[in-house]
Amino acid sequence: MFYHCPVCHKVSPNAKDLARHIMGTGNKEHRGWIESKCLSFSKLLTAQATSFGDKGYQPLTELLEREAERDEE
Ligand SMILES: [Zn+2]
Repeated sequence: MFYHCPVCHKVSPNAKDLARHIMGTGNKEHRGWIESKCLSFSKLLTAQATSFGDKGYQPLTELLEREAERDEE
């Protein structure tokens, strides 16, 4: 199973890695995609900065997993 960044088409075997990529890139295009999915880039960033582990990436990871499943169909 591979996950594709919906913005720049970077490929990763791991949804959490891709979530980290999207947050880490954080440019206008990647932020815009997050916002288009009704998530808030700044909220995710705050959650990630103020918690241990990957809490901030979690909603994005789940979203990428759902999107990848949808693409498989
Ligand atoms: Zn990307």
